[in-house]
Amino acid sequence: SRPASPPDTIAAIATAPGRGGIGVVRVSGAGLGAFALALCGRTPQPRIAHFTRFLDEHERPIDEGILLYFAAPASFTGEDVLELQGHGGPVVMQMLLERCLQLGARLAEPGEFTRRAFLNGKLDLAQAEGVADLIEASTAAAARSAVRSLSGQFSEEVHRIVDALIDLRMLVEATLDFPEEEIDFLERARAMPRLESIREALEGVLDRARQGALLRSGLDVVLVGAPNVGKSSLLNQLAGEERAIVTDIAGTTRDALRETIQVEGIPLHIIDTAGLRETEDRVERIGIERTWREIARADVILHLVEAGVAAEGDLDERLPQGVERIMVANKIDLAGLPAGRVEAGGRVRLQVSARSGEGVELVRQELLRIAGWHAHGEDVILARERHLLALREALRHVEAAGTQLGALELFAEELRLAQEELGTITGEFSADDLLGVIFARFCIGK
Ligand code: GDP
Ligand code: ZN
Repeated sequence: SRPASPPDTIAAIATAPGRGGIGVVRVSGAGLGAFALALCGRTPQPRIAHFTRFLDEHERPIDEGILLYFAAPASFTGEDVLELQGHGGPVVMQMLLERCLQLGARLAEPGEFTRRAFLNGKLDLAQAEGVADLIEASTAAAARSAVRSLSGQFSEEVHRIVDALIDLRMLVEATLDFPEEEIDFLERARAMPRLESIREALEGVLDRARQGALLRSGLDVVLVGAPNVGKSSLLNQLAGEERAIVTDIAGTTRDALRETIQVEGIPLHIIDTAGLRETEDRVERIGIERTWREIARADVILHLVEAGVAAEGDLDERLPQGVERIMVANKIDLAGLPAGRVEAGGRVRLQVSARSGEGVELVRQELLRIAGWHAHGEDVILARERHLLALREALRHVEAAGTQLGALELFAEELRLAQEELGTITGEFSADDLLGVIFARFCIGK
């Protein structure tokens, strides 16, 4: 094989756009000692903070600040890395960046620094995704979970399962040559108990990953009820103090009919059906049609009625049937009813007062129950959809292996497939196009 050509040099502004005390331009490539010499008039020492001027081509200062130099391979990307910490104004940052381009760097693509870190074995794919997830985290719980992925906890657990699979495969493959002893062998090697413990480990990780997926993407909730029944009041009560942290997540389109609140760190995306009125406006109608499609895919319908008054039927009939429902009877203070959970005719009804907050905790608990949330902060894995898919597939193969004890080749093959699925999580078996998709969603400079 041909030796790989040295990487080209990439540069980007790593700090967020706008003005700030400090702004950082990051450069990664080969031979950046000489690059720094041209930029600052000095050859930097690795891992020392140099106070320096950043010079243009006529040796006039563009800015002064701190220069950091990390020599390959001891850097984030595994290449030579320079960090130019200047003053955080958009113009000066742009000038610094342009100077770097002039010195031979090209503009980095989104996520390209992290992609290089991955390609140079500095972090695996699940860790790289942890980087992006930490930056994108919209709640503190999601951030804590992302940092655990970033530091490799999720990867380590996947590796432990992969190791167990490999051990078992080796045992099995070693006996494929002695078919008459297969069954005996499996018993002596305790293959079944081993397979069972792999299955349990996988289920455990999958469960925690599902909790993480919930933290990540939350629950879609449709809020229905007549005008003035107390929908806005209930939303405010549910959101409580956490409301202030609600942020908009890059890349998701938001519209007026949708609002996100948090309950125990889980984002609830609320579609308020008050917006679903009859209209002649073409644009608004398109929005409403889209909302109806979202409703059909919702996780929960939260149906508010006035306590002591029969529910109105019209909207109720138009709502999709297969979706979980929570019936909430509001304004118990007016009806003179106690707060609580009442079961009548097979249906659960939560009696609350959105004004005083009485009973609202029951709504919160019911939402979390439907969501399947049972995690205790620390062990949640902030999984992506592709991680869930891989874990599910791996579990399916492990379970299939359990039915193949009579045919050792098939048993071994299922183990191999399970291992391969897990390998996609950390990136050991990942196609280029997958990498493209993952890294394209990073921000520039990361
Ligand atoms: P929405 O139109 O469904 O969003 O209803 P709002 O939340 O705007 O509430 C309509 C009115 O009902 C407001 O004046 C609220 O203060 C009042 N309200 C909401 N919940 C309660 C409740 O539990 N008890 C009483 N007495 N009034 C409530
Ligand atoms: Zn309202």
